[in-house]
Amino acid sequence: MYIFSMVRSGVATVIDKCNKHIPLSRLAIMPETKWTQIEEILKGQHTGTTIHLRGWIYRTRSSGNIIFMILRDVTGVLQATVKKGNLPDAGFEDAFKALIESSVQITGTVKEDKRAPGGYELQVTGLTVVNFAEPFPITKDQSPEFLLDKRHLWIRSRKLTSVLKVRSTVVGAIHAFFREKGFYEFDAPVLQPSQCEGGSTLFEVKYYEDKTYLSQSWQLYAEAGIFALEKIYNMGPTFRAERSKTSRHLSEFWMAEMEAAWMDLSDVVAMAKDEVQYILGEVLQKNKNDLQFLGQDIKKLQEITGSEFPTITYTDSLEILKEKEGMNIEWGKDLRTIEEDRLMNHFKTPVVVTNYPLEIMAFYKPKDEKDPRTALCFDMLAPEGYGEIVGGSQRSNDITTMIHRLKQMGENVQNYEWYFDLRRFGSVPHSGYGLGVERLVAWICKADNIKDTIPFPRTLLRFRP
Ligand code: ATP
Ligand code: MG
Repeated sequence: MYIFSMVRSGVATVIDKCNKHIPLSRLAIMPETKWTQIEEILKGQHTGTTIHLRGWIYRTRSSGNIIFMILRDVTGVLQATVKKGNLPDAGFEDAFKALIESSVQITGTVKEDKRAPGGYELQVTGLTVVNFAEPFPITKDQSPEFLLDKRHLWIRSRKLTSVLKVRSTVVGAIHAFFREKGFYEFDAPVLQPSQCEGGSTLFEVKYYEDKTYLSQSWQLYAEAGIFALEKIYNMGPTFRAERSKTSRHLSEFWMAEMEAAWMDLSDVVAMAKDEVQYILGEVLQKNKNDLQFLGQDIKKLQEITGSEFPTITYTDSLEILKEKEGMNIEWGKDLRTIEEDRLMNHFKTPVVVTNYPLEIMAFYKPKDEKDPRTALCFDMLAPEGYGEIVGGSQRSNDITTMIHRLKQMGENVQNYEWYFDLRRFGSVPHSGYGLGVERLVAWICKADNIKDTIPFPRTLLRFRP
């Protein structure tokens, strides 16, 4: 919405959404203009008609009296041909001067043209440059580090735009999935007094005269929440001071977690499989173009959505590694990245691995009485080297064992008294899991590095811009 005004200088202006005065002369197009999006043009909805478009110059080259511009908006890119004589001279001159990433408003006629990218072009009859961009610092073949320095500009690249659209679908699908199943959204504090996933990855925060930590997980608070709401979920920023540089770990990431009263391990394993299938289905429906642009094989993802995801035990996985990969892993050792990847050489869909060795698990994971060396827990691993995407478990109801495990880790048990209360007042079997949003997006988008699945990645070496 624009509001007309007359500033003191006597120049007629319009006031935009941000309360800024824009001289009317800068806006060739009047406020009631109907704006067309590039996607509609590429679908053939406006062929032969005159439309108004606004966006940014993605590429531009001129030869004499003709300028070929590629324009972009959130929906795609379109070729625009600016010919001297077809529009007012001032507009042509501005088009000539405008560098890439200048913002423009354009009027033109849509023509079908097989030679143009996408099969359509816009023959320009009016052009206003809203902002003349300075020379854009990002040119071809820049190093990944440079692109991270310029992340605030690089997120407009077509690649990141596509990934961010998929991410938005994934986040929307997670909310929809749990709400359809009758879960309540439940928020936990981000500032927490103690650890949940191991003290070594805690970020410490000064808290007035005291200290606190950034959340490593929503879980412990969720375990309080289920006694009110029974089935709850959340998606929130999660912080882990990961000391190793990997293509799978961020220091700040988004975890989608669920926790439910009365559910056991097999219930949450089934739910995690359902959830991933549901999310994939939504992305396949809404983001085909983005997946194509990112070089993802859509047919392969469709097949995965329609397949059953296998469940194996940790012990089975060691067998597979031994038999098929010739890897001898000592029982009791955690699966490292290399082992997860080699295991997944033998699966096309995600796989759930249950019953990891109890000794290496977090303090709240209970023993499986049927196989007491192991815990009632699971990870879901993605194919093609994307690693663990979900981790979850049943939760222990045994205060004595939990105290023992916490003491072994050097924790101050006093900090967990409130948590043990949950076992003292009407405790029930309950379970939950966390899905790493960026890990899932990385797999779906075939991203080389998890950094490309979040707008502003934070890692061991970077927290800017
Ligand atoms: P990993 O062994 O890969 O470090 P984890 O066992 O520490 O994972 P969980 O504590 O089970 O992970 O967390 C649940 C999910 O959160 C993981 O399955 C993964 O998808 C995601 N996740 C965990 N740590 C990170 C991280 N540092 N960056 C991005 N996602 C993460
Ligand atoms: Mg970890």
